[in-house]
Amino acid sequence: MLEKVVIANRGEIALRILRACHELGIKTVAAYSEADREQKHVLLADESVCIGPAASAQSYLNIPAVISAAEVTDAVAIHPGYGFLSENADFAERVEQSGFIFIGPRPDTIRLMGNKITAIKAMQKAGLPCVPGSGSLREEDADKTAKLAREIGYPVIIKAAAGGGGRGMRVVFSEATLRNAITLTRSEAATAFGNDTVYMEKYLEHPRHIEVQVLADEHANIIYLGERDCSMQRRHQKVIEEAPAPGISEKTRREIGERCVEACRTISYRGAGTYEFLYEDGEFYFIEMNTRVQVEHPVTEMVTGVDIVREQLRIAAGEELAYKQEDIHINGHAIECRINAEDPETFMPSPGTITHYHPPGGAGIRVDTHVYQGYKVPPHYDSMIGKLIAHAENRQLAFARMSMALTEIVVDGIKTNIPLHQKLINDAAFIAGGTDIHYLEKKLGLK
Ligand code: ADP
Repeated sequence: MLEKVVIANRGEIALRILRACHELGIKTVAAYSEADREQKHVLLADESVCIGPAASAQSYLNIPAVISAAEVTDAVAIHPGYGFLSENADFAERVEQSGFIFIGPRPDTIRLMGNKITAIKAMQKAGLPCVPGSGSLREEDADKTAKLAREIGYPVIIKAAAGGGGRGMRVVFSEATLRNAITLTRSEAATAFGNDTVYMEKYLEHPRHIEVQVLADEHANIIYLGERDCSMQRRHQKVIEEAPAPGISEKTRREIGERCVEACRTISYRGAGTYEFLYEDGEFYFIEMNTRVQVEHPVTEMVTGVDIVREQLRIAAGEELAYKQEDIHINGHAIECRINAEDPETFMPSPGTITHYHPPGGAGIRVDTHVYQGYKVPPHYDSMIGKLIAHAENRQLAFARMSMALTEIVVDGIKTNIPLHQKLINDAAFIAGGTDIHYLEKKLGLK
């Protein structure tokens, strides 16, 4: 097994990784920023190294600083978590060149899947159905682009090839605004992602977001862990996720799962990964792959009993997957609410000190969070402060458990989106199952 791992992240995922390491007897090094000295995982880690100031560009995104943390502590591997450097192929390459294990896929896989255009091409070749669309759009081909948009049919969506986090996307409803939308998305993409490549896809009008979790080791063992439904979104960002996806039959699960496994084989995938699809009128359309652990991985863990982070560590150590496909069964239903430090009405971030904290509990309740009473939510990072997960033998009970947990939980001193979750978990259409990616924004009166 790996001897010592650097955790190059913060917040709940850093703590999640630390727990998985310690369970396996792996020593941990917390690589943290000046704003995060009081993080729970920093206090619990075997060693900790401050890698720079609060601004993530100078700490969590600072490649030499993260690699030095591994050098000075004699660690053998680096876990990037999600966000930050987790999908940065140059980082993964430099980690390996420096003699450390990158806990994730090979750098060339990250590069291939990190560009949505090359990812779609590769996955189309591997037999996955994709949304009708274009390759890279060229400024000088405006007429050709307009013709293609007419062929695809409006509305279309212009997307940044290097986009992520729900940013770098623009919906276009008619030819009159097409050119302008491409120019705007291009310049936003250049600023936000340092890459101005954009492409076009048919904008699906009532899809659900369904994604498939996979695990692959270095010995050609690949399995799928079923799917998650992450359709409850605001600004293309997930708010609530559940597993399994309501209404997906075992047969459909197996078919799409097996196709994802085959797709992994064609790119010699290694590690944990997620194939994201839009699902409309009974058809799946691949949109992108995430080559890392995802925020919503716990719902899959709850229904399959597989510890995804542990498997990531075992794969990185060169071991074989602990499970074969026939060992994987979907047991009951799990739902996750992302708890954010934000105003539940305006969605403005709400950093500050948590004056009172009382976690919910009871059978089937899991709380993945780094916060505690007296913890100060810094203003520098993403507003997510934790995740509440409820698991039960069926969907109805899982919702009932979540509803109770949302009533029990107390987070005072800052504003959170808990009141929004309380409304959603008791929403008749959501309870019925199958609401699409636009449902939340429509309910909020944003669409
Ligand atoms: P990111 O990498 O920023 O997460 P994705 O490509 O995964 O971007 O898309 C995020 C979300 O944006 C999807 O879950 C969906 O809600 C919406 N979206 C993306 N592509 C389309 C499309 N072609 N039609 C409709 N909605 C889309």
